[in-house]
Amino acid sequence: MIVFEDVVKRYPGNYVALAGVGFEIRHGEFVVLSGHSGAGKSTLLKMIPVIERPTDGVVRINGQDVSRLRPAAIPYLRRNLGLVLQESRLLFDRSVLDNVMLPLVITGHPPRDVERRVAAALERVGLGGREREMPAGLSGGEQQRVAIARAIVNRPSILIADEPTAHLDRAHAGEIAALFKSFNEAGVTVIVSTHDESLFNAYRPRRLALAKGILVGDSAC
Ligand code: ADP
Ligand code: ADP
Repeated sequence: MIVFEDVVKRYPGNYVALAGVGFEIRHGEFVVLSGHSGAGKSTLLKMIPVIERPTDGVVRINGQDVSRLRPAAIPYLRRNLGLVLQESRLLFDRSVLDNVMLPLVITGHPPRDVERRVAAALERVGLGGREREMPAGLSGGEQQRVAIARAIVNRPSILIADEPTAHLDRAHAGEIAALFKSFNEAGVTVIVSTHDESLFNAYRPRRLALAKGILVGDSAC
């Protein structure tokens, strides 16, 4: 369960990126967050892993107020989250295996299990057997799949993706949208931002719409 209560975010210079946003997302929901560039989508998504904190209001995850979480507790929260953010770039001087195994290494996963888990994650995103390749040799869509494999290799219960279909042509963007739906069907709570909601139409997601930091639409209400 993810709860936002009257969340305000002011950036330095007093710029208001979120102006009092509230909603509740239940386990297993498939949520598409839409809005033009600058609407506040990234800011909102970054509050879930506590990359940003609200200036006012509360963010709760599974009952815990994470807006005031102490820094030492943040890694424990993130273990349960899969993140595909704008800044989640791949390491281009490392293999696909090295990239995808990173979250397992960070959490101290038993080494003998790491390769098996990476293989399963790559299989899951349609890149089975591509461990030894380098990211630079992959297409944009394949690179995005590697980033998604890295996000799910920890088997998170919540998957958050910020514009994962940006920079992809429509056919490849559609495949990525379908991939997120498949994770949701496996029980993962999925929250994806996009400026092209139509990519997700077929999946009848819950729609949250942001405009200039205000929640202007919620299809669940
Ligand atoms: P979106 O993801 O919908 O494009 P963002 O959350 O990235 O929107 O940005 C919302 C607004 O907040 C934008 O006007 C952006 O310029 C501003 N903003 C985002 N991050 C910062 C920051 N670190 N400092 C100052 N302003 C920021
Ligand atoms: P940073 O946030 O500075 O990039 P981290 O050590 O937090 O460094 O994370 C390294 C990489 O692992 C990031 O690219 C991030 O996308 C990914 N990552 C971190 N935590 C998780 C998680 N819980 N689930 C999936 N991927 C994660």
